[in-house]
Amino acid sequence: MELQLSYRLETIATLVPDGARLLDVGSDHAYLPIALIEAEKIAFALAGEVVKGPYESAVSNVRDYKLQSQITVRLANGLEALESSDQIDCITICGMGGRLIVEILEKGKDKLADVDCLILQPNNREDDVRAWLAANGFAIDKEVVLKDKGKFYEIIRAQKGEMSLSDDELRFGPYLMKESSAIFTEKWQVECAKLEKALSRVPLDKAKERAQLIEKIDRIKEVLK
Ligand code: SAM
Repeated sequence: MELQLSYRLETIATLVPDGARLLDVGSDHAYLPIALIEAEKIAFALAGEVVKGPYESAVSNVRDYKLQSQITVRLANGLEALESSDQIDCITICGMGGRLIVEILEKGKDKLADVDCLILQPNNREDDVRAWLAANGFAIDKEVVLKDKGKFYEIIRAQKGEMSLSDDELRFGPYLMKESSAIFTEKWQVECAKLEKALSRVPLDKAKERAQLIEKIDRIKEVLK
């Protein structure tokens, strides 16, 4: 029974270091841990899920794949899933809003001492995620932007280390900006068009609101030059 991951999850899987002991936070079907164990890329994973229905679906999938000895599923909020005896060294938090990812990391940051690698895929507010990493002793070493079923996603991988980022790097991603791939350009052209449409609807007397939108549009145009 081969598990076919979405292109997004498949790309996240490629960023997990070989042999990692992984915690996947918000592991609704445990698809990512199952695929990584099936591919023998890793030998142990913890799947954490806070909502009962998705937790039960993760438990049942792990049972169907007969991977109970390699994947532990826990009903837990964020990094509360993590016990020091699990010896987790890599955490994935994917498919959630950036602010929720930051909240999970901030609440559980005392549990990150032995964690070397964070792989985060916020659905929005990537700038907040990068700012949290920079302020909490993590340095980005890899970023990917992709399009899956018509939606753009950014994946951010960070290791322990120091980094300081400019406002543009927080917003656009230090590596993504430098690489400036075709998908990166497309993502920001789409965003720019949305902002221009929003601007066209803001009355001329709302100067502050217009100025904020114009500033955002100008930054995108500058970065895409
Ligand atoms: N990570 C999977 C992915 O990327 O496809 C699932 C994404 S799904 C949209 C988000 C999951 O995170 C939901 O199942 C939700 O219940 C779970 N979740 C949200 N907040 C959480 C938290 N604080 N701790 C654990 N799981 C959480």
